[in-house]
Amino acid sequence: MNKAKRRVVIAGNWKMNFTPAEATAFINEVKPLVAGKSGCDVVFCAPYVTIAAAQKAAEGSNISIGAENVHFEDHGAFTGEVSAKMLTECGVKYVIIGHSERRQYFGETDTTVNLRVKAALAAGMTVILCLGEVKEQRLSGITREIVSMQTKLDLAGVSAEEMKRVIIAYEPVWAIGTGLTATPEQADETCGQIREVLAEIYGEEVAEATTIQYGGSMNDKNAAELLAKENVDGGLIGGASLVATKFEAIVNAAQ
Ligand code: PEP
Repeated sequence: MNKAKRRVVIAGNWKMNFTPAEATAFINEVKPLVAGKSGCDVVFCAPYVTIAAAQKAAEGSNISIGAENVHFEDHGAFTGEVSAKMLTECGVKYVIIGHSERRQYFGETDTTVNLRVKAALAAGMTVILCLGEVKEQRLSGITREIVSMQTKLDLAGVSAEEMKRVIIAYEPVWAIGTGLTATPEQADETCGQIREVLAEIYGEEVAEATTIQYGGSMNDKNAAELLAKENVDGGLIGGASLVATKFEAIVNAAQ
């Protein structure tokens, strides 16, 4: 395995935070802090209504703005949903799919995650696909089986060519927003297991080229150790992506 072959991506997940005005102020604050840090791609995934303001503030910088979800149909009677076509017309290139909060609170299943992944890829977007085990599964020793199953189901029907636009975020659910972090060894081991599944499905070349992030209470203090691991190619960051200096420290750790 060769980590140097993969692009490191540091992505913030703002969740349900930041109004358009707050996002503008935040991007204006963080923009100079991450400028010229070419060792990683920098992305913030924003609530739908905040995307345009964040994009405007990020113009001319190395920051890309993504969405936090996307529906799998192009249009129709799906009140409250937003399609990939709507996002791409707004210039959105990245989208988080399958976040554990969507799975936990909004009934997302591997089947709907897979449909969303395929719709986003068909529209030309880059997907940040989230998966990971809950606490009981880790304690039962079935983490490998869980992430393997999720990887296979969520990527069913996705081609090797399309995998160039798939980033996987390994997010142990017990570590998200809890202040608990997987140890660097746990993160590396499970990201490595996901990479093995990718090798099974797509072959070594695709597996080696796929960016696999870690997410789950990554912050300014623990990022360097996590990002140093062979199989950890970046981070999906919730809480710490709302504080410019903390996010800057994570970006610095990725250089
Ligand atoms: C996330 O929202 O994907 C996440 C990892 O959150 P936090 O960093 O707050 O745990």
